Amino acid sequence: MGTTANIDGLHFANIGKARLLKTIDHIKQFYLAFYSVVCSIGNKLYLCNIRFLKFKIMHFSKLFNYCPSCGSSSFATNSEKSCRCQSCGFVYYINASAAVAVFIFNEKGQLLVCERGKEPAKGSWDLPGGFVDEDESAEQAVIREINEELGVDISACRYLFSFPNRYEYSGLTIPTLDLFFACTVYDITQIKADDDVAACHFVSLNEINTDMFGFESIRNGVIKFISSQM
Ligand SMILES: [Zn+2]
Repeated sequence: MGTTANIDGLHFANIGKARLLKTIDHIKQFYLAFYSVVCSIGNKLYLCNIRFLKFKIMHFSKLFNYCPSCGSSSFATNSEKSCRCQSCGFVYYINASAAVAVFIFNEKGQLLVCERGKEPAKGSWDLPGGFVDEDESAEQAVIREINEELGVDISACRYLFSFPNRYEYSGLTIPTLDLFFACTVYDITQIKADDDVAACHFVSLNEINTDMFGFESIRNGVIKFISSQM
């Protein structure tokens, strides 16, 4: 891998110009593309793992330029959480969107892990689940999402804990609150990947690589859950 350097605690590996294009091609096909950037320092090129860096956040106040009520361009930041139209007085607040994530185990104590079939973080690992719909409880969202993504029905559902997340979609950073549940299903043999899930399989807890999870909240949730089982 050539020479390496450490800057502000981040590990950089000098991959050299000759290997750059080949490496980029490999990155495109690899789940870690979600975390990796190629950057230059001095006259050398580096492949940098940015998992621990904060992504640039596209706040709604920078994306929403016009009042959704009257169309005025005087739609300005009112506070950290809101924008206000100076023409008609309409105020828009942005709050965390609720989402659910589900732990399902088989009789061997292995965890069901899904591969994301769509962006963001396509190809990375995930837990089954998704956003809570309007007028829906978190428990109802669990039942619906598990049916949509895995084709099975929930027989029991228990709330565990929550983690905040930031979901990048359509150029906007959406704050979410991910609610974690432990569930059992009526017929585990009927589980089949569908909808947003490209594939799913059971993995023993001691074989789970949490770096494979594309969302920080899901990674944190899995780490917390595995720690509680030790
Ligand atoms: Zn307005």
